[in-house]
Amino acid sequence: MPTYKAPLADIRFVLDDLLDVGQLTALPGYADATPDLLATVLEEAATLCEEVLAPLNQSGDAEGCHYENGVVRTPRGFREGYDAYREGGWPAMVAPPEFGGQGLPHIAGVVLDEMLCSANLSFSMYPLLAHGSVGALDRWGDEELKRRFLPRLVDGSWTGTMCLTEPHAGTDLGLIRTRAVPAGDGAYLVTGTKIFISAGEHDLTDNIVHLVLARLPDAPPGTKGISLFVVPKRLPTDEGLAGSANGVVCGSIEHKMGIKANATCVMNFENARGWLVGDPHKGMRAMFTMMNGARLGVGMQGLGLAEVSYQNAVAYTRERLQGRSAHGSPAPNADADPIIVHPDVRRMLMTMKAYIEGMRALAYWVGMLIDVEERHADTATREEATDLVALMTPVIKAFCTDVGFEITNLALQCFGGHGYIREYGMEQFVRDSRIAQIYEGTNGVQAMDLLGRKVPDGNGRLVQRFVVLAERDLAEAAKVPALRAMAEHVRDSLHALLQVTGTVMARAARDPDEIGAAATDYLRMFGLVATGWMWVRMAATAIAKAGEGATSLPKVDTANFYVMKLLPQTHALAAQIEAGAPPVMALDASAF
Ligand SMILES: Cc1cc2nc3c(=O)[nH]c(=O)nc-3n(C[C@H](O)[C@H](O)[C@H](O)COP(=O)(O)OP(=O)(O)OC[C@H]3O[C@@H](n4cnc5c(N)ncnc54)[C@H](O)[C@@H]3O)c2cc1C
Repeated sequence: MPTYKAPLADIRFVLDDLLDVGQLTALPGYADATPDLLATVLEEAATLCEEVLAPLNQSGDAEGCHYENGVVRTPRGFREGYDAYREGGWPAMVAPPEFGGQGLPHIAGVVLDEMLCSANLSFSMYPLLAHGSVGALDRWGDEELKRRFLPRLVDGSWTGTMCLTEPHAGTDLGLIRTRAVPAGDGAYLVTGTKIFISAGEHDLTDNIVHLVLARLPDAPPGTKGISLFVVPKRLPTDEGLAGSANGVVCGSIEHKMGIKANATCVMNFENARGWLVGDPHKGMRAMFTMMNGARLGVGMQGLGLAEVSYQNAVAYTRERLQGRSAHGSPAPNADADPIIVHPDVRRMLMTMKAYIEGMRALAYWVGMLIDVEERHADTATREEATDLVALMTPVIKAFCTDVGFEITNLALQCFGGHGYIREYGMEQFVRDSRIAQIYEGTNGVQAMDLLGRKVPDGNGRLVQRFVVLAERDLAEAAKVPALRAMAEHVRDSLHALLQVTGTVMARAARDPDEIGAAATDYLRMFGLVATGWMWVRMAATAIAKAGEGATSLPKVDTANFYVMKLLPQTHALAAQIEAGAPPVMALDASAF
């Protein structure tokens, strides 16, 4: 059975040494959120993940969810796991205090997400969407809706869902047909079918709060005619309890490749009572509050599964004896050497380590920017953070999940045939991680969001903000002899990124297919450059922390590996992007 140990040392390196998380205590409401307090909280979270949730991961996958007549049962142990999660106060950790939350910074939630996803991805998705619902209702709901739903979502006694997808409307939400008609008393009656709804029905809580996209009778066509409704499984009583059943029924659950312990549901709404969240026809704007948070959360799924796969691969490669080291055996009296001696195995381990620690730094940086965006006293600082979060959200979602999937595969490869069979649990990580590239907007859609919307936004203002920060740190690092070459490599890749950005923007003015043809390569290149910047920062931080004369620092060695062995992909990607749309669009559809 695979094991999981939360990487608390690296988490603290990123939070305390790299990002100086202590600076958040200067923000209103966060005075008590000291690094020591966060460390204590995260240690407790680690215990829950390691001892309660991780042991349920493999059995949950083998058993899956059960469906009978609209009722869904989660696998054995999940209820107890959820009770432990709720009783520990974890649903409330970053929620607003006025509704019972503990009001800790968002960055703490990002770290918790990583650990939950490493321990048990299927489990993590039951609370993930409740957290997103709290954000959307808090931002867009009226006082009555907040009073009725938020305390229960915050204390975890109810969970939430996001209901967007319909059989004929996946990426293109403008096609949604679910209808909402006024009930005459301020509520609406919602009718339609949603598919693929994560945690749409389960037995962990006595109520489920669905956030549903639907059309009002006078809705204009397309996405401009979509409104957002809150539709509970059970109607809340005046005392805030789960009351009588609403017109919401789970029609079936999907049988799928991974995350088998998370119920993926067909949800039928039949004149279900719901309430409008935000303005009529402005549902996409309101839903984006939830979707942006969920996109970062899905990015953490990529990171979390990468981390747990890597940990198990390291342990296995230290123990599995096959072949001899080419440069002299460390154990000549044994039958063979552990496979960790072989350069090709080291290549896999280093690739995993370099991506994982780099992605962690990048994702936590964005997590902290969310706190700055929400609370900083200075308007210009808040605006900068808002721009950077908007720019980086598709990168975190798609880069971390694409790389996360690659890493679960590399980890499986380290096990050879033993990775392909069930016993070691590695094939589950591969299966589980695959979905993260698909839901919450496929990674192709994220790439188009980055290149088609975020990059041109404000005449390149968002990218410019990123470049200013990166250039500043790279110039500083270049003054340190041990970092000079590394910083210059990253700067070369950054300049190559700017070069292709200009090329694509100029071409896109003439040919709209240029954006779509370049987008996926561009996002990958962006992620590689941003991670390279983080590696230079981490190496600089490690050197500063270790003091003069320190030799062989793992962070510096790993940074070197990243820059020498992974970052060069940016130059191939630049060439691919430069090739433009014509090679992609050359064939007529009938020629495939
Ligand atoms: C396990 C699971 C859980 C899910 N959970 C939820 C949930 O909780 N709530 C919810 O609402 N939905 C959920 N989904 C649905 C998920 O978000 C959609 O599957 C996803 O958005 C893609 O939609 P689709 O499957 O219809 O694919 P399609 O939209 O048909 O896309 C198929 C392919 O075409 C590409 N494509 C489509 N349009 C374009 C375009 N304009 N330009 C370029 N490429 C394009 C896509 O990138 C993709 O590769 C879940 C799905 C799964 C499998």
